[in-house]
Amino acid sequence: MSIKSIDEIALLGKKVFVRVDFNVPMKNGEISDDTRIRAALPTFDKILSSGGAIIAASHLGRPKNGPDPAFGLAPVAKRLGELVKAKVILSPEVVGETTSKLAAALKPGEILLLENVRFDAGETKNNPDLSKAFASLADAYVNDAFGACHRAHSSTAGIAEHFSSGEKAAGYLMLKEVNSFDRVLKNPARPFVAILGGAKVSDKIAVIENLLSKVDKLIIGGAMAFTFLKAQGFSIGDSLVEDDKIDLARSLVATAKARGVELLLPIDHLIAADLADDLKPEATKDANVPAGMKGLDIGPATVELYKKALAGAATVVWNGPMGVFENLALSGGTFAVAEAVASCGGYTVVGGGDSVSAVKKSGKAASISHVSTGGGASLELLEGKILPGMAALEG
Ligand code: ADP
Ligand code: MG
Repeated sequence: MSIKSIDEIALLGKKVFVRVDFNVPMKNGEISDDTRIRAALPTFDKILSSGGAIIAASHLGRPKNGPDPAFGLAPVAKRLGELVKAKVILSPEVVGETTSKLAAALKPGEILLLENVRFDAGETKNNPDLSKAFASLADAYVNDAFGACHRAHSSTAGIAEHFSSGEKAAGYLMLKEVNSFDRVLKNPARPFVAILGGAKVSDKIAVIENLLSKVDKLIIGGAMAFTFLKAQGFSIGDSLVEDDKIDLARSLVATAKARGVELLLPIDHLIAADLADDLKPEATKDANVPAGMKGLDIGPATVELYKKALAGAATVVWNGPMGVFENLALSGGTFAVAEAVASCGGYTVVGGGDSVSAVKKSGKAASISHVSTGGGASLELLEGKILPGMAALEG
């Protein structure tokens, strides 16, 4: 793959279309977390300090029927203006006469932010006319929206066709993500341990299949473990299970064995009859869950087993919590694994929306080598897919 870095393309005097992921969480019209805006600043600073101008584009939420003030980028433009030492102009539209005029008048060192790209129905359809309209505004294209690059949309994919290889590049955030996943998935340092958890086996089948051809050990936790345990004849009580995936679980276990991958399943659990706020879960004495009870976190013996399996790992990739970590009484397994990953001494990557929030909650995020900013995009990379927004930058 040959994706250029923003350091390798000409920026002086250029108008650079930058696709960013400013899909920030909002509460009552206010930005509740501006991490995603801050994450784009290194790329913005690079373009501005190199004598370029920025035409920035992002989606926010999922507006259904065209322009909708509830999904407008005005709060984002305001916050961006507070964070960069540059003039930020918000266009009232995605593309059209006003945007074209504002882009034409844009001077080096200035930023024009387009309105929410999903106000245009063409965006999510990768509409060629919209892609062309985006491209006509600028001399170069930079994609720094890792969280959106698993989608083939006009601003993430179609637009790139209009730029030659010397005119398009990945921004710093995108490069960090791409390099981190490359380091794990291509030629990883060994031993390489993957940890998979979360709610459903069905969400992660492609990830398990892809990782089984790469890892030395595969640790399984979370609700998905119960489909594997049932396949092996354990009782699982009322734990979450996907009965239509039991045969598949059995064949994945066989594949692991045939490839010499050590597959670890929970040997005990924290159980309760139901979720509750002031839960006092009990530990089981083995991998079985009694009738009427649900397995909601890995148990203490499993924590020890998984800690041992992670000690000395040279590469670790983790997706999916070990239990219902949102409930403090059921967060212990996930937090213990976070601690074991953080202290293993190897190169460690965590991806997935809930996994990342679990790692942040555990207080160990700073000791993980890479905490991905893209949930869906990181899962698709772990599945071994080529992401459209990355493919579009090649050439
Ligand atoms: P990610 O977003 O990181 O890919 P998932 O969405 O696959 O992760 O899974 C996260 C969810 O799995 C969490 O909401 C968590 O409560 C749930 N979960 C984990 N273990 C269990 C369990 N034993 N029973 C029920 N839900 C579980
Ligand atoms: Mg999730």
